[in-house]
Amino acid sequence: VTAAIWFRRDFRLQDNTALFHVLSSVSKNNTKWIAFFHLDDPVVNNGSLSLHHDYFFQTLIQFKERLKNLGIQLHIITGGIEQAFAKLITRYPALSEVYVNQDLVGEGMKRDQFVKKSYSDLRFHFFEDSFITHPLQVLKSDGNPYKVFTPYYKAWSKVKKAPPLRLDESSLSRYSTNDDVVDDEGELKLHQLKNLCSHSFDRIGENDALERLEHFLKVQLLNYKAHRDHPALMGTSRLSPYLKVGALSARTILYTALERQDTEGRETLIKELAWRDFYYMVYYFNPESKQKEVTEQYRSINWNQDIELLEKWKRGETGFPLIDAGMRQLQKEGWMHNRLRMATASFLTKDYLIDWRLGEAYFAEMLIDYEPSSNIGGWQWAASVGTDPVPYFRVFNPVTQSRRFDEEGRFIRKYVSELGHVPTRYIHEPWKMPKDVQVASTCVIGEDYPYPSVDHKSQRLRAIELFKNV
Ligand code: FAD
Repeated sequence: VTAAIWFRRDFRLQDNTALFHVLSSVSKNNTKWIAFFHLDDPVVNNGSLSLHHDYFFQTLIQFKERLKNLGIQLHIITGGIEQAFAKLITRYPALSEVYVNQDLVGEGMKRDQFVKKSYSDLRFHFFEDSFITHPLQVLKSDGNPYKVFTPYYKAWSKVKKAPPLRLDESSLSRYSTNDDVVDDEGELKLHQLKNLCSHSFDRIGENDALERLEHFLKVQLLNYKAHRDHPALMGTSRLSPYLKVGALSARTILYTALERQDTEGRETLIKELAWRDFYYMVYYFNPESKQKEVTEQYRSINWNQDIELLEKWKRGETGFPLIDAGMRQLQKEGWMHNRLRMATASFLTKDYLIDWRLGEAYFAEMLIDYEPSSNIGGWQWAASVGTDPVPYFRVFNPVTQSRRFDEEGRFIRKYVSELGHVPTRYIHEPWKMPKDVQVASTCVIGEDYPYPSVDHKSQRLRAIELFKNV
């Protein structure tokens, strides 16, 4: 009998539900076991990978190395899913059990349903691992899902949540897979992907994630509520990329935070983790929401598809400093501050009136923390078409947002170098600079930095009309 663990986006040893259970079974029954990762061909553009693939594969490679040092071989199985399983079954004829942290949404869910149906000789042990609660765990008393976050959060706060599973790492080498078969094709493919990475991330993996968490809780948590909306401050945890690849579990964040003093900061952090679960639940109950608005009545909105404007937004050349700074942060780092995600998504949908799906897809391509549920939820929230969205008549003003959340323009200057010498007085509306000030600050509007690409006031009215008319 051989058992297997199928790693996906759960590259950690601690509080990894499937890993914990496969090891318990191996130790109890003294069975052989293997570990594998199924490598789908990622999209390669102009000879390089997107930043989020860079981040993902670098974490995978580091994790594989870590397992290897413990005597555990992580096999990289290539090909389509059927081909990959055929390879596994041929190579390990005694394979009978597969331990896996399952996906309940999106393409991952379809794949899990497929393998379960197609390989009935294998016993799959599916575990819920990536989120704190299961989507069916927090429901209204009549059994229906919540549509609004506040009552959801009240109920979420009360449900019993599984604590993290502790693994004794010092005993791990005892579980060596004693498996020296190497999948040449898989190794080669991984090596090729490594060479295609254009950006090297140095703070990756479980140990860094735990350090980041510790630092955040010790130094930043107290001021989290006050600082979290100001992108120039290091006010948020920046744990989202680790959560995405599973270098850290959300349960670990929750339970470690609960050991700390009960402060407003701690309560705010826990609420954010609940938002993550909320959007997961929304996607679970609305599996078509990557394409379709959750609010049915808004499915017929006639969104703009202007590619030229879309490109301006992507490049951070809208002429609105805060929006441009956010978009350039995304391009440079594959990550964007939450306040900017809200402002740039609102700008695309309400100022450019562009289809939120195009924005969602761009974020999906760029974000190293891309999480379908949170991204779809965030975009539908900003576009006012989802469940519990910002009301369509409350449109973010890009200049007011800038004045409120980047008062002195520090964040803007960091990412929009053309505006580096613009006086604070004009940093939020550089087009109002007198000509001599433009020259003195080496930022001539129309030449060094664009004029605003749209008139916010009139676009706001057009956006409201768009909603009123459906
Ligand atoms: P912190 O403020 O430190 O929060 C801690 C954790 O709570 C985060 O790591 C995250 O897991 C969770 N969290 C915080 N805010 C939210 C939120 N609004 N919704 C859901 N979970 C939240 N988050 C992603 O993880 N992946 C995405 O693809 C994503 N796309 C988004 C798109 C839009 C348009 C918007 C408005 C928000 C999106 N978010 C997404 C949510 C949020 O912006 C990020 O989770 C947050 O900025 C991550 O930074 P942090 O870890 O420093 O957050």
